Amino acid sequence: MSFAITQSCCVDASCVSACPVNCIHPAPGEPDFGTTDMLYVDPRACIDCGACAEVCPVDAVFPVENLVGPLREYAEVNAQYYADREAPAALAGTPLFHAWDPVRFDRVLPAGFPQLEVAVVGSGPAGMYAVEDLLLHTTARVTIVDRLAVAGGLVRFGVAPDHASTKQIGEHFGRYLDHHRVRTRLGVEVGRDVTVEDLARDHDAVVYAVGAAQSRDLGVPGEQLPGNLASTTVVGWYNGHPEIPDDAVDLSAGRAVIVGTGNVALDIARILAADPDTLTAVAAPVLAALRASRLREVVLLGRRGPREAAWTRGELLGLLRRDDLEVVVDDHDPRIADEIAAAGPAETASLLRDVPLLSQAGGTSRRRVVLRFLSTPEAVLGDDHVTGVRVGGVDLDARLVVRAIGHRGRPVPGLPFDEATGTVPHVEGRVEDRPGTYVVGWIKRGAAGGIGANRADAAETVGSLIADGAAGLLGPGAPRNPVRRAARSLARATRRR
Ligand SMILES: Cc1cc2nc3c(=O)[nH]c(=O)nc-3n(C[C@H](O)[C@H](O)[C@H](O)COP(=O)(O)OP(=O)(O)OC[C@H]3O[C@@H](n4cnc5c(N)ncnc54)[C@H](O)[C@@H]3O)c2cc1C
Ligand code: SF4
Ligand code: SF4
Repeated sequence: MSFAITQSCCVDASCVSACPVNCIHPAPGEPDFGTTDMLYVDPRACIDCGACAEVCPVDAVFPVENLVGPLREYAEVNAQYYADREAPAALAGTPLFHAWDPVRFDRVLPAGFPQLEVAVVGSGPAGMYAVEDLLLHTTARVTIVDRLAVAGGLVRFGVAPDHASTKQIGEHFGRYLDHHRVRTRLGVEVGRDVTVEDLARDHDAVVYAVGAAQSRDLGVPGEQLPGNLASTTVVGWYNGHPEIPDDAVDLSAGRAVIVGTGNVALDIARILAADPDTLTAVAAPVLAALRASRLREVVLLGRRGPREAAWTRGELLGLLRRDDLEVVVDDHDPRIADEIAAAGPAETASLLRDVPLLSQAGGTSRRRVVLRFLSTPEAVLGDDHVTGVRVGGVDLDARLVVRAIGHRGRPVPGLPFDEATGTVPHVEGRVEDRPGTYVVGWIKRGAAGGIGANRADAAETVGSLIADGAAGLLGPGAPRNPVRRAARSLARATRRR
């Protein structure tokens, strides 16, 4: 028997260094690392020790004999990764990838490295991985600043409430909030309550991890109509975001249209269409709204075909394996069925082969999720409220339209900003022309990648910060009592709120 990694894997690679036989891949440094939806256990080499399951922060690893329900396919998913990369005949029987590289110590501080006073702005995964790296590898004192009164970023207010194991990573990050070298300043927004200049003056280094909180627009007529919502509004609503009112989402009509074929679009479709009694972790007012919902159908619109949808295999499987809703593929264009038929076994679109086509689907008492590919919205319809969406000359009735076509960063006043990419320009995490200022996470590399991708990203940024400290670029002008000085601007800002 072996262990297998499952859907909630966020690719942070914690398990790789825990495995005594190096049988979890792709590992950091290997060519595929960062390009796959998850990591995979090689069942031929796994010795069933369970060390990976012990360290996994999102409870994604199980003995294969324990895989049941929607997880039962993951033994095969793990094995398939290695089957697809089988050694050439000459090497048959020799497992690939399993030699350990020489041990490297990436964080070596020179004698006399200063005790730095560092502010980390943003308490989402990128900020918290940066905090972790700073605490575990330097003597820095860290002040975490966040505009919201609750820490966690998208782990708290983005990850869907039925992804309980993914949300568990919040506990991993949460333990650093109580660390004796950490202070928190929650409810303090940089650009509103405190300036970039204040923070730069009062700290040896400032790391911005402010994410990419803005939903991209469709750019079609009617976009301003009430009822046409950004994905951030709907996601914030079902996650109890303090800035989103309880009545933000109107579920009084039979159909909702979601534009987008990424994981966020799938999350929203699943939460809106699922049996509310399966959603134990949503706030009471949201649960009441979902119970009273008149929604019968959620249509997901994808501009391109099924082979180009951005969702991951795990998230699509998670939707297809639910028995409280029905999923169908709208076959309005013959190319759609052709593409699904042509998809290879490793392609996510191959999972759609067993999904009924809309033209053949019978009636159902369950809510239905319709996947409608090759459908670009041309206009959001309505006079004083959304009444539908026009796609390919066809009008789909709906009172709720959600645009889930990606996120982009917002400028922070006082920091440079690249409008084209929605990011802060940087070199290996160092903000251009701002000594002592760093970026990490979605505001650094754009809104792509899961939680775990921010770990390697934070390692790069903190690596740059440490190198600058070692080169004497941080700290020499530091005040005699950095704790008191650093407290000044933030203490003022906290008092004002
Ligand atoms: C809806 C949704 C669901 C997702 N689900 C998953 C999932 O299930 N699994 C997975 O692996 N990945 C998931 N992801 C991706 C994951 O959430 C991101 O990789 C990650 O959150 C990016 O981290 P970040 O720290 O850069 O940004 P964020 O998590 O957005 O954190 C940014 C923080 O900065 C704060 N902030 C912003 N501006 C300021 C300011 N001016 N002053 C002070 N504070 C500020 C914000 O309040 C926030 O706390 C999801 C993403 C979204 C959008
Ligand atoms: S979440 Fe991290 S520790 Fe868990 S299986 Fe995935 S890579 Fe390994
Ligand atoms: S059970 Fe042990 S040997 Fe198998 S993948 Fe996990 S850590 Fe490696």
